[in-house]
Amino acid sequence: MKVLVAIKRVVDANVKVRVKADGSGVDLANVKMSLNPFDEIAVEEAMRLKEQGVVSEVVAVSCGPAACQETLRTAMAIGADRGVLIETETALEPLAVAKLLKALMDKEAPQLVLLGKQAIDDDCNQTGQMLAALAGRPQATFASKLDIVDGKARVTREIDGGLETVQIALPAIVTTDLRLNEPRYATLPNIMKAKKKPLDTTTPAQLGVDVTPRLATLNTAEPAARAAGIKVPDVATLVAKLKNEAKVI
Ligand code: AMP
Repeated sequence: MKVLVAIKRVVDANVKVRVKADGSGVDLANVKMSLNPFDEIAVEEAMRLKEQGVVSEVVAVSCGPAACQETLRTAMAIGADRGVLIETETALEPLAVAKLLKALMDKEAPQLVLLGKQAIDDDCNQTGQMLAALAGRPQATFASKLDIVDGKARVTREIDGGLETVQIALPAIVTTDLRLNEPRYATLPNIMKAKKKPLDTTTPAQLGVDVTPRLATLNTAEPAARAAGIKVPDVATLVAKLKNEAKVI
């Protein structure tokens, strides 16, 4: 069985992002970029299914500029067998990515598509759900456990107050949550091997997908700076302030 894993190149989680002076977005010049952490978990899960003998091929796909090749190589260093870059300079919205992934699903016919539950740059949490709708396939989001049993995906999800386990027919779309697994480090020999793995490039036009943005960002702003705290002399003053000024008790 073939698994398609969608991976996004995002600003590294440790970077403190700066907003551009004109408020049009976030400054990406000279910023460290990485594989979206939830997608790293998705690649790891695909590898574990391969190691269990359930999966025969893991294909990583990324949509974006040529620099996404580097992100695909990272996924291949973790273990993905090959990569597909859907190359475009256009800023992609989740619906555009979902349409591109649907077009690739039609070509590759995977039994399982794994995505992160969200990209840590736009925090949209939309692409997997949109892909499932476009493909007309079952979806299980926020997976914290994934098993393939009797040709079906059994997915445990963390919900308010407990765990929910759902079973969905394949082909299916599954999005990963933080506790699904702990991704392995790519070893140096695997990083070297990844350089030789096949990486195909296609474009939205070749896949027949229009990726023209539908949304306009009106403004991007830094969060308001926090006001400095104060010291109170005793508990009575603290309680009085919480009651009369903050009005929280
Ligand atoms: P989002 O809906 O933007 O929060 O993204 C959810 C998931 O969709 C990500 O974790 C990725 O698995 C996938 N995804 C989003 N954008 C891209 C992209 N440009 N290329 C490949 N996968 C993507």
